[in-house]
Amino acid sequence: MSHLRIKCPGCQATLQVKQEMRGKQIACPKCQKRLQLPEAPPVKAAMSAEATCEGRDGTTGLSS
Ligand SMILES: [Zn+2]
Repeated sequence: MSHLRIKCPGCQATLQVKQEMRGKQIACPKCQKRLQLPEAPPVKAAMSAEATCEGRDGTTGLSS
């Protein structure tokens, strides 16, 4: 498991905290601002690549 990446709202620094620190409060080492860590990692929206099939017009000139 990798570390959590939290962006400090105070100094905009990106902090790396251990997964086991989820749901706890830490103090930013730079600005000492209190941060509430999320309990669960952010849910990534599943990429739904919807393939659209374009119908080809196979119209031919009328021949009589
Ligand atoms: Zn900070």
